[in-house]
Amino acid sequence: MQLVFSPEVVITLAGIIGIVYGLILTLKTVGVLRPLGLQGRYWILVAFICFFLMMYLFQLLTFLGYVVLPVSLDLMVSFVYFGGAIYVVLVSVISLGLWRNVAGKPLTDEEAREMFAKYVGNAPPLEQFRAKAYSIRCNICEENLRFGLADVVSSHADSIERGIDVQAGMGLKMVVVYPRHVCKDGLREIPVKLDDAYKYRSHGESRPV
Ligand SMILES: [Zn+2]
Repeated sequence: MQLVFSPEVVITLAGIIGIVYGLILTLKTVGVLRPLGLQGRYWILVAFICFFLMMYLFQLLTFLGYVVLPVSLDLMVSFVYFGGAIYVVLVSVISLGLWRNVAGKPLTDEEAREMFAKYVGNAPPLEQFRAKAYSIRCNICEENLRFGLADVVSSHADSIERGIDVQAGMGLKMVVVYPRHVCKDGLREIPVKLDDAYKYRSHGESRPV
């Protein structure tokens, strides 16, 4: 059979190149997210992209006359559009989840204080809770980071135990909070020790998130 490079064949070929490139980028994203344990949903995207690739290849073979479409071309095009819409929703849901994991949930100061009080056992008054009362220096980039307890809770709202650690012993209670900070090599957390009145005591070396 003679190969005809008609516009639809060329456009479909370009589409296939784009999809393969997108697949490579998505696999790279999985590699980046794996150490953070956030790669799970990206495998759904990989599966979806593979499905798209098969559709494109099928369409190419149809245009070249190797395969006869079992449905009308209009229906096929509608399917591809529909798949595109699902793909957009999927990407949006996954990136929202990912950013929530990184940046936290938007909580009001009252909600954040309630969550803090439930987890720690008590909480400072709202004014003290929402104030950016602490100022520390990152040991990696040497930048100053100002934060308050409300910021710590919001950025760890999905898993509060990763952001606050209550240490008690010998009649003393100490709270270690982990404010997040965008450092030069990515997101990091800095352990900050507070006493039982939530006054700053000391801070340690930052750790990657
Ligand atoms: Zn830093």
